[in-house]
Amino acid sequence: MPELPEAEYMVRRLRETGGGTIAKVEILRPGMTGGQPARTLAKLAARQPIVGFGRRAKSVLIELGNGHTIRIRLGMSGHVYHVRDTGILPRFTRIAFLLEQGGALAFEDARTFGDVTIHANERLPEVFADLGQEPLEAAFTAASLTEALRGTRAPIKPLLLDQRRVVGLGNIWAAEALWQSRIHPATPTRDLTAKQLKALHRAIVDVLTKAVENTFKATQTGADFPEADLLAVAVYQRDGQPCRRCKRPVERVIQAGRSTFFCPKCQAA
Ligand SMILES: [Zn+2]
Repeated sequence: MPELPEAEYMVRRLRETGGGTIAKVEILRPGMTGGQPARTLAKLAARQPIVGFGRRAKSVLIELGNGHTIRIRLGMSGHVYHVRDTGILPRFTRIAFLLEQGGALAFEDARTFGDVTIHANERLPEVFADLGQEPLEAAFTAASLTEALRGTRAPIKPLLLDQRRVVGLGNIWAAEALWQSRIHPATPTRDLTAKQLKALHRAIVDVLTKAVENTFKATQTGADFPEADLLAVAVYQRDGQPCRRCKRPVERVIQAGRSTFFCPKCQAA
């Protein structure tokens, strides 16, 4: 499942290769326009220059010259590619934005949990109202993290998955950030010290930054689209294997219905 690092990777690749003007929108599978009429997307995006690419949480954004933004939610299996030859679109392409200069931006989504919508730029704050801070932006600091986590006794690990507080930490990166900052995943959030919050902030930025880099590295080795996340993890799905720091076996517990992996020694309660 694509997480923030893959979405960030896609956006950076699109910035390198995917600009131009959209000639036409081809909707190859109906029902993937997020409740908007398909013709709205087709009409508003056609003949529009692409003025930028962006990302919000796990959505890829295509900014258009007419003051609208296309939002691509990746869902469980979505990818966005720049394709040079529209004769060989990826197999599960659901929506293709054909470019005037040739080629296309293809939204491929085998499992069809994603969607594509279009919004006037002034409506975007409303569209993203439920999303918390972006951990790879400069505005994300130890202080802003502290503010986002304030006032709750809920255990820290499930809280890190709450996208209303900080976006982009899926089950993998929440566990990794807690391991790096040596925080037990069941620690009541309001018991975290200023020092721990500072370490957690640094760890979140670190693990996500490395994950983006790993995604680039993995694709250079020829993998089509890797689950690069799993190349460099310290604890995720490593239960029973030695902790990379202290050699004690990594443990798995269930929190809020999800598996949590941690080192009982490095992350002592
Ligand atoms: Zn350890």
